[in-house]
Amino acid sequence: MISFDLTREQRRIVEKTRDLVREEILPRSLEIDAQGDERFDWSFAALLAKHNLLCPTIPKEYGGLGLNHLTTALLIEEIALGCAGVATVLNANIHAASPIVLAGTREQKEAFLPLLTTSEPVLAAFALTEPEAGSDVGAISSLAESDGDEYVITGSKDYVLNASVASFFTVFACVTPIRNRASLRAFIIPASAPGLSPGTVKNKIGIRYANTSEVFLDQVRVSVDNMVGGNRSGSGYLLLTQTLDRGRALVGAVAVGIAQAAYNLALNHARTRIQFGKPIMKNQAVSFALAEMATKIELARLMTWKACWLIDRDHDHTAASSMAKWYGSDVALEVTSKAVEILGASGYMANTFADKYFRDARVLATVEGTNNIQKAIIASLL
Ligand SMILES: Cc1cc2nc3c(=O)[nH]c(=O)nc-3n(C[C@H](O)[C@H](O)[C@H](O)COP(=O)(O)OP(=O)(O)OC[C@H]3O[C@@H](n4cnc5c(N)ncnc54)[C@H](O)[C@@H]3O)c2cc1C
Repeated sequence: MISFDLTREQRRIVEKTRDLVREEILPRSLEIDAQGDERFDWSFAALLAKHNLLCPTIPKEYGGLGLNHLTTALLIEEIALGCAGVATVLNANIHAASPIVLAGTREQKEAFLPLLTTSEPVLAAFALTEPEAGSDVGAISSLAESDGDEYVITGSKDYVLNASVASFFTVFACVTPIRNRASLRAFIIPASAPGLSPGTVKNKIGIRYANTSEVFLDQVRVSVDNMVGGNRSGSGYLLLTQTLDRGRALVGAVAVGIAQAAYNLALNHARTRIQFGKPIMKNQAVSFALAEMATKIELARLMTWKACWLIDRDHDHTAASSMAKWYGSDVALEVTSKAVEILGASGYMANTFADKYFRDARVLATVEGTNNIQKAIIASLL
């Protein structure tokens, strides 16, 4: 049976998050954005940690809220409405934890998951991309060489969210000199491990709250116990696809949040801006544009909910998740651009919400596999 009714618990979480965003995040999100990427402001992370929202998918037995994917998407949409950078930090945490939640041993879960649920802010990072391996994960060259009870990992990762502030990293590396998907494995590496060092924080166009940098791995020793998901051929790649399939639906939620925020701004402006003696909303060109924006946001939201619904039931969700991510990020781009147009000259001013939404939306077509890669995934399943 299909129901669009939120449960009492979901409504409670949405309302609580909406209040937090309105009172604590929105008033400072432009200021944080204007500061740029370099200085990480812990206050937002601390706020989420205080409410145990930094990684809400962690099961209750490890201290988390144990939220399912749909409820997590509702939460992320609300946070992205206030600041997509904050939502991205949270998503990065969920990503880093996801392989451990999905396939970690009890010891791994007990050692790492509770870290992300304490009232003090703790962040984690998901390190997959390399300078020569973006869309093509089969080109990953980081090598994990077996040495007794340890692996020695050497390589470099790029564009890793939370890298400079993470307490631990979930890193993908190959275990054989013949590097391919079958040889990929996942490892949990504490940030304090000798040989692991984040590079300089990169300056980005948008989502500036979430910082991104290279990660250098210079003969980093990790125990064999830190390999996640087993050591079978293809086990790392399987875990990677499971993590990304789940994560893409949450990118859809970020997209919906940004688009909704831009739409709200444009609607308010259209109702209050008087030209030719009447609100500009009274012109069909403007009201139809807003009608299209509202409809596309609704569709993107439903696609995100559907993908999460499938994930929560452990049904096949790969195509639905890719569709939600691709369509949602396209809608976010279109709606934020249209909002700039409806706001007229004021929409083109720097350090405004219109400017921030426009820049924040741009990244969504790239992360978690570019939208071309989503189309390739969907096409492969036709
Ligand atoms: C802000 C930000 C945060 C990120 N965070 C993380 C993170 O936390 N962890 C992490 O591991 N990575 C992260 N990434 C990296 C991200 O996952 C990659 O940027 C993405 O996978 C694309 O890789 P690439 O940039 O190398 O682009 P490329 O793979 O070089 O692609 C360039 C262009 O070519 C197109 N293209 C490539 N191959 C094909 C194909 N076969 N068919 C059609 N088109 C193709 C792409 O669609 C794209 O338009 C982040 C990136 C950004 C910008």
